[in-house]
This record gives sequence, C-alpha cells and structure tokens, in this order.
Amino acid sequence: MMVSSLTLPDALMTLDSNTPAALRPHDHDACIDAALAAAEQTCKEQGLRLTPIRRRVLELVWQSHRPVGAYELLEALSADGRRAMPPTVYRALDFLVNAGLVHRLATLNAFVGCHDPLHPHQGQFLICGDCRRVVEFHSGSVNRSLDRKARNLGFELTEQNVELLGRCSDCRDAH
Ligand SMILES: [Zn+2]
Ligand SMILES: [Zn+2]
Ligand SMILES: [Zn+2]
Repeated sequence: MMVSSLTLPDALMTLDSNTPAALRPHDHDACIDAALAAAEQTCKEQGLRLTPIRRRVLELVWQSHRPVGAYELLEALSADGRRAMPPTVYRALDFLVNAGLVHRLATLNAFVGCHDPLHPHQGQFLICGDCRRVVEFHSGSVNRSLDRKARNLGFELTEQNVELLGRCSDCRDAH
C-alpha cells in the first residue's frame, strides 16, 4: 500500500460547501483499506496492540459511513463464525474509541470510524436523519468558541463532540 493512502481523502473533511466524499459515490474499499492502515500506524505510534478482534471490529464499523450499534457488530461477528460475547465487543469498542480510531455518537448510541485518527481531535458530526450517513468535520473555531463559553460558565469540558442532526443533500433531493 502506498504511504499516501494512509491519510484518507482530504475531501472527507468538509471544509467547503461541496458534497463531502463520504456522500458521493466512491470506492469505499479504499476507505476501509486506508482506515485499517491508519489504525495500524496509530497503534504503532501509541504503542497499542491492534489485536485481530479489535481490527475486525474496526473493519465492521467501517463497512459504510453509517454508524453501527454494538448489537449489530455482535451479529456481524457471529456471522463470521466467531462466538463473540457482548463484553468482547464493548471492550474492543472501548479500545477503538480511546485510541481515537472510532467515535461514539451519543445521540444514536452508535459508532462511526474516524477518518483522521493520526491527528487527535474533537469532531463535529453531521448526521442525516433519513439515510443515517455521517460526515465528520473539524472546526477549530467551533471548538474554541464552545470552550470559551463553557469556561465563562465555570465549566471545564472533557469532551466536545458536537452532533448535528439534519438531512443530507441526497435525501433532500429525494424529497
Ligand atoms: Zn467510503
Ligand atoms: Zn475523527
Ligand atoms: Zn441522507
């Protein structure tokens, strides 16, 4: 694999008004390959172990740009012929979230792959309520402004994933 493919398409970072790559028809196998390669590099840099089960769970999370729940992952693992128990899946997800490879979306109680795990960040997530696809972006100014506001209110933020619900352009066209 070429080194350049370690970083996922920059277009996934929706910094402009164009349709984000995640919502365009694209070669999703390339997304999965890049995510797994980035995971291996991240784990190596952080001295973490990407065990086969953690790797497989990450691969399953990355099957699409839609978040998946722990229960769906459990079913997919069973389809693999693995006798995975819920704690196994939760432990693997905990690891992946802590390593920054996967984000947990609280509003959906589901998990989505991070496209930029090599750069630790707090993300903003656009969640389509119709097709459930998610687009992640990072806005430093949003983070700073929320941080400032929270501090003014005497609040120290430990996490600031921002989940924004709406409807993607495809789903809007379909209406
Ligand atoms: Zn993709
Ligand atoms: Zn991310
Ligand atoms: Zn949609």
